[in-house]
Amino acid sequence: MTCNSEWKEMKDKLEKGQRPQDRLDLTTRVFRGKLMDLKDQILKKEILGKVAAYYDKYVQAEIRDKETNMPLYEVVVKHMLHGPCEEYNKECPRLVNTTCRFRYPRPFSSKTMQGNDVYPIYRRMNDGNKVKVRNATLNNRWVVPSSPYLLLRYNCHINVEICSGLKAVKYIYKYIYKGHDRAAIYISHDDDSRTISEIREFQDAR
Ligand SMILES: [Zn+2]
Repeated sequence: MTCNSEWKEMKDKLEKGQRPQDRLDLTTRVFRGKLMDLKDQILKKEILGKVAAYYDKYVQAEIRDKETNMPLYEVVVKHMLHGPCEEYNKECPRLVNTTCRFRYPRPFSSKTMQGNDVYPIYRRMNDGNKVKVRNATLNNRWVVPSSPYLLLRYNCHINVEICSGLKAVKYIYKYIYKGHDRAAIYISHDDDSRTISEIREFQDAR
């Protein structure tokens, strides 16, 4: 989940001329408040109560129909599209040897299935739905899985996955111990066509 600086709770409390990034005391409190709220919802089992046959009900990874579901369409387009990277952006720091390390674009799938990994392969219909983001056209293959209920409620980037098996433990462990945020900055010429190596960039920064 990533805090949305447009949240009303935040804007209401800003002094004149302040931006959310000037008020870490405030963003921390609002974000923490949202997380507590989220935890309550999960405890009430209103969201993630059941698995298997109920995957599609709780977690979806598709661009919604603009005509019939405008609120969800807007929030998915604004917060839940990965990229554009891969063929669209060779400079994306997330790329190693021009393959997105988050494995986007994901394959189309006509229905949700249990994958070989701990995660399911979510339904991503080849239904022609697409949006233009910057210079790229993104379809269902670029949608990060989320819960429609949570997206509408919190209006921010919030990745929700069904996960089962031992890897779930690894996932939780990583998020607790990965450390605080860092930024990687790279300046290049237009004609610089070097391969991006995350390992080398890490060493350079050191
Ligand atoms: Zn990517």
